[in-house]
Amino acid sequence: MAEPPCGSANRCRLTEGVPGYNVGPISSEAPSVSSITLALSKGRIFEETLPLLAAAGIVPADNPETSRKLIIDTNRPDVRLVIVRATDTPTYVQYGAADLGIAGKDVLLEHGGAGLYQPLDLDIAKCRLCVATRKGFDYAAASRPGGRIRVATKYINSAKAHFAAKGVHVDLIKLYGSMELAPLVGLADAIVDLVSSGGTLRANNLEEVEEIMPISSRLIVNQASLKLKRELIQPLLEAFAGAVK
Ligand code: ATP
Ligand code: MG
Repeated sequence: MAEPPCGSANRCRLTEGVPGYNVGPISSEAPSVSSITLALSKGRIFEETLPLLAAAGIVPADNPETSRKLIIDTNRPDVRLVIVRATDTPTYVQYGAADLGIAGKDVLLEHGGAGLYQPLDLDIAKCRLCVATRKGFDYAAASRPGGRIRVATKYINSAKAHFAAKGVHVDLIKLYGSMELAPLVGLADAIVDLVSSGGTLRANNLEEVEEIMPISSRLIVNQASLKLKRELIQPLLEAFAGAVK
């Protein structure tokens, strides 16, 4: 049966005052004070976090690339991993469903960081947030103070702040992937996206025209967890800090 339309009932106010939608410790699976849950995303963040976990004496029992499990035990009975989408990591930690997480600065800037303590730049998953255009596009003219530009990105907050600081009017178009396509088919003049080698840009006849900021991944900690579980979390923070060169 169809759901009632949003706005017609309280059930759409997801995080306040609605039975069943409250974000408090409603689940019997909620982590106890004697164990900690770390949220990680698959791919480069998981791969580059493995040596940091090893430095803290933590070895995952499964590989999320080959296992379909979303909750992964470790060699330590008091530490488990949850595998989430990269953009969801701050949300799991904010609400305490995970005590800690590892998330890119790009993702943290879009999330806003509410409820999160960010004690450590782990110097992993390094890349940069850039503006890129089709080769030959006159970016200097379009990005003059008072100019106007149409930008496609999944980084709406960061793009808005960047062009506002330059005094450029920006029309933002939210995309969820394959950003490189947008300037090629006339959806946008430019994209704001992450770049590491620049290979994807080159393959699509695009060029980087401005760096917005360098990006790396940070350790994030739920603020309440840090107080309640300091004995478990503090040694982990120290081991991670020691392993970051
Ligand atoms: P998907 O690519 O499936 O849409 P995603 O973009 O959310 O997922 P990843 O591509 O694995 O996830 O990126 C996760 C994090 O890794 C990003 O938030 C960013 O901080 C970092 N990252 C992204 N692209 C690169 C890159 N090319 N080089 C280094 N780090 C990167
Ligand atoms: Mg990606």
